Amino acid sequence: MNDSGGQSQSLRIPTFDDVLAARARIAGQAHRTPVLTSRTADARAGATLFFKAENLQRVGAFKFRGAYNAIAALAPEASRNGVVAFSSGNHAQAIAYAAQLQGVPATIVMPQDAPAMKMAATSGYGAEIILYDRYTEDRQAISDRIARERGAALIPPYDHPDVIAGQGTAALELIEETGALDLLVVPLGGGGLLAGSALAARALSSGCTVIGVEPEAGNDGQQSLRKGEIVTIPVPRSIADGALPTHVGNHNFPILQDKVADIVTVTDAQLVETMRFFAERMKIIVEPTGCLAAAAVFNGIIPCNGKRVGIVLSGGNVDIAAFAAMVTGT
Ligand SMILES: *Cc1c(COP(=O)(O)O)cnc(C)c1O
Repeated sequence: MNDSGGQSQSLRIPTFDDVLAARARIAGQAHRTPVLTSRTADARAGATLFFKAENLQRVGAFKFRGAYNAIAALAPEASRNGVVAFSSGNHAQAIAYAAQLQGVPATIVMPQDAPAMKMAATSGYGAEIILYDRYTEDRQAISDRIARERGAALIPPYDHPDVIAGQGTAALELIEETGALDLLVVPLGGGGLLAGSALAARALSSGCTVIGVEPEAGNDGQQSLRKGEIVTIPVPRSIADGALPTHVGNHNFPILQDKVADIVTVTDAQLVETMRFFAERMKIIVEPTGCLAAAAVFNGIIPCNGKRVGIVLSGGNVDIAAFAAMVTGT
């Protein structure tokens, strides 16, 4: 059983039409990020690779798409009361910024020990920050209470139909640009990006196989897909800090079951090597989680010889000192 159990009556599983609606809502707001190619990368993989560079998205990750779409989809009465999110990562910043752009008040529930830089960025976007103690308090309960008291809409990072649909717009743009693909490879944390991407890929490129990639230490998605039910694991340890959810969401799991062929894993060492490759050879900074899909392709974990392969680079938010330490092995 997972922690959103009991709400199955209210499940609204998004479809490709929701991805198209999301695209219309975010038009002119989210960047249409570039699709990068590299002969060195192609030679390494023995395939033709197309990298969707969401590390260059606003706030540095695809999360801006889902956040902007979910806020824009609210009824006017609902958005007047504001939105609430809990996260110390890319979703919090995406909600704070997307809310500010739409003139909607935002409250972000963050752990007391979140990095000062992240707190400053979040309050810089005009959001109110409410701190909690991650060892003694339950962020979900705090967020639910604030949402109830204020009549505000709680927007979770992946288990929400409009968030999933928004995330799907990256793959939609990618395939529109490249034409049909044989394979689409996507990072997986809570499964919002993978589900949205699968909706777009299966609708636009019927022969495209969709594969998710998660850190080896946190393979709950792989276990869930193989078992046919959502499996919850203890909080994993990995440098892929955007892929640490302990289970996938109720709104995305049915899509993963229907449209995703497999979920594979990579190690932290493979992520570091991939970060170094992107910096050295392609001159881009990709955060560890953003390297998941590429690492699986570069290391032959997903066979792609001779194929046309789309790879989502999901984000670029990594502290530059931490980045330097990782890629130089210090
Ligand atoms: C959140 C995040 C992911 C995982 O997305 P889910 O929708 O939770 O699966 C991957 N990469 C980055 C950079 C992220 O911020």
